[in-house]
Amino acid sequence: MASQEGTKSATALEEFLGASPLQLFIGGQWCPSRLGETFEVLDPGLGARLADVHDAGEIDVDAAVRAARQAFQKSGWARMAPNERGVYLHRLADLVESHKNTLARIESLDVGKPLDQAVWDIENFSATMRYYTELSQHVAHRDPIAVARHEAWTVRHPYGVCGFIFPWNFPFLLVGWGISPALAAGNTVVIKPAEDTPLSTLYLARLAKEAGIPDGVINVIPGLGETAGAALARHSGLNRMSFTGSPEVGRLVAEACGRNLVAVKLELGGKGAAVIFEDVDLDSTVDQLVRAITLNAGQVCCTASRWVVHDSIYSKFAQRAVDRMKEVRIGYWNDTKTEMGPLVSSKQVARVLGYLERGCQEGAEALLQGGRTKVPGKEGGFYVKPAILAGSAENVAAREEIFGPVPFLLRFRDESEAIDIVNRSPYGLANSVWTEDLNRAHRVAEKLAAGNSWINAHNVFVHGVPYAGINLSGLGGGVLGPRTYFDYLREKSVVRPL
Ligand code: NAD
Repeated sequence: MASQEGTKSATALEEFLGASPLQLFIGGQWCPSRLGETFEVLDPGLGARLADVHDAGEIDVDAAVRAARQAFQKSGWARMAPNERGVYLHRLADLVESHKNTLARIESLDVGKPLDQAVWDIENFSATMRYYTELSQHVAHRDPIAVARHEAWTVRHPYGVCGFIFPWNFPFLLVGWGISPALAAGNTVVIKPAEDTPLSTLYLARLAKEAGIPDGVINVIPGLGETAGAALARHSGLNRMSFTGSPEVGRLVAEACGRNLVAVKLELGGKGAAVIFEDVDLDSTVDQLVRAITLNAGQVCCTASRWVVHDSIYSKFAQRAVDRMKEVRIGYWNDTKTEMGPLVSSKQVARVLGYLERGCQEGAEALLQGGRTKVPGKEGGFYVKPAILAGSAENVAAREEIFGPVPFLLRFRDESEAIDIVNRSPYGLANSVWTEDLNRAHRVAEKLAAGNSWINAHNVFVHGVPYAGINLSGLGGGVLGPRTYFDYLREKSVVRPL
């Protein structure tokens, strides 16, 4: 049965990639880019070409925004009751589930992540879609206001056309986090996936068509950031924008949207810390943090990349961390023993190695040397070994986002020093506190400056619990919480003097 399933998804995958160059999805139709340009997508585990994809230019972006506008005005999507839209969205979630194995293989091939991690991403997409679909049916879209001598209420309407720009590290999962609340609220969307990893989003477009979602409600325009991304961000036909990626590009997108007075949500990078007190179970804490920093080869915005350890256990902790990191099994996505795949691109390899070099030049000690490594039979792949650095909190590798399997060890003597070290970061996405003392855990968790504090765990995502960044890590309310749904609805007041 399992192998039958495997053969089915291998065939579906072959057929999907066989259609290369893959086209844009605009107004429910597959179409080439108007200028006929394409770009290459690589398998990072091999460093070899996986597919060619049509590269959306400004004219294609404009066509996608127009198609989304037309669908918003004419398809009936925006005016459907939430439970009517819910039929389509649950159908889409069903299709994602029934194509889970194919989608997970696409994601693994495209990003390099081990298959079980990709399966989790795909399942998370459906869960997000169902969460917002259910929520949309159980919240009030009209609220009476009790004021003297007036009949008054507020009513909520969808915005219109929402643009989405996504990064390459969790392509499918992040599309789910982004578009689910927007669609459930009755908006139409234009999605610009990252040029490194556009494949699963294109497969989603197929499923949207099969689910019967009206043409133009979901549009997918793969393309390069400086061209397709920039054209989408500055398009005056947008009503809302959501960007997930680096703070540098986030600023550009926010500036472009600002010129058109388009509201924007930004989900940006991070330099998360784990504060480890002296009373933890050392083995279990080290194991969980190693898993967190090697998840997706460390290319996770919220992961714990600063390990802030109590002085009394620092040496033991550091030794266990080195021993455990050395055991991490690096390999290709389809090897069931693989714990960590390659980085996404040669550019990302250069970034990680560059930080190792600069960190050491600035005086950091390499407790574990990183560097390039090879996987037998996959010599062209973008593999690096995990590394551990230690030293001053002012070191460049302790301050900036490396986005690779490289934690930076720091030591503290008391609670207030730990909080001070963590809060010196200009980022503010997610931190964690590790201790058996829950009073201390609650106290410290509430004092850490970030959108999210986790206790005795790292990388915790729960539908219904908001996930947002502050400072350099983002603005605009975040994702995953119930309020995100309302971010995609405008509120209007209606009043009649009595
Ligand atoms: P990036 O900012 O380089 O690119 C993100 C997207 O923006 C891509 O689709 C890219 O094509 C596009 N883009 C690039 N230049 C553009 C421009 N001038 N105008 C418009 N769009 C443009 O980020 P990345 O390297 O793909 O992703 C890594 C970053 O994303 C890290 O900083 C990471 O922490 C962050 N991230 C944040 C979250 C979150 O939820 N907070 C989630 C995942 C990743």
